[in-house]
Amino acid sequence: MTPYFNAVATTLYSIFEGMAVTTSYLFRRPSTIQYPNKLEKPLEEQLSDRYRGILQVDTSVCIGCRICEKTCPIDCIAINLEKNKETKERFLTRFDIDISKCMFCGLCSENCSTCAIYHTKFFNGATQNVDELVVRFVDSPIVLYKHRKDSDPKTREKDLSGVIVKQKMVKQRMKKQKTAKQEMPVNKISKHKIKEEIL
Ligand code: SF4
Ligand code: SF4
Repeated sequence: MTPYFNAVATTLYSIFEGMAVTTSYLFRRPSTIQYPNKLEKPLEEQLSDRYRGILQVDTSVCIGCRICEKTCPIDCIAINLEKNKETKERFLTRFDIDISKCMFCGLCSENCSTCAIYHTKFFNGATQNVDELVVRFVDSPIVLYKHRKDSDPKTREKDLSGVIVKQKMVKQRMKKQKTAKQEMPVNKISKHKIKEEIL
């Protein structure tokens, strides 16, 4: 009988020991934080200015040299240019970056002579659909920037917090979801609505 009671005693002791450790955490200061709502200070302030987050393109100072596109080792960037044959004016008609492929190496931004392309501190672009990670910076043709002696585009203020690119991604995502809903067969739409109502 002694081994039996020994086993019961050992079990009870180990349960008590485990619960004592667990209970002690009720009275300790939490060592975790509730990201992203309860940070001591905004995340942007905690990241370095040289942090390499999601890229932003300021198309108003892009000269269309395509160096960023050529430098990118994994072809994340796609640029299209067009020229007006009469006025000889050149336009930027496409500037897409596939964030899902980007490895945030910084080669594109380092080689841009006007700092039109740069990294922001925004990094949270998580989505269930990988296609939504292609950021399109050109909605309609944009006249290319020309270098001027009296101004240096590198000294302009940049959106390092990434608000602009974040808004762009959200807008693109909403547009895509709206199109997908419109193209959805009627029976699926009603199911979708029911699901939304439940949520
Ligand atoms: S973003 Fe910079 S490197 Fe890329 S095409 Fe424009 S000016 Fe050239
Ligand atoms: S950061 Fe690197 S991988 Fe990303 S687009 Fe620029 S060159 Fe390509």
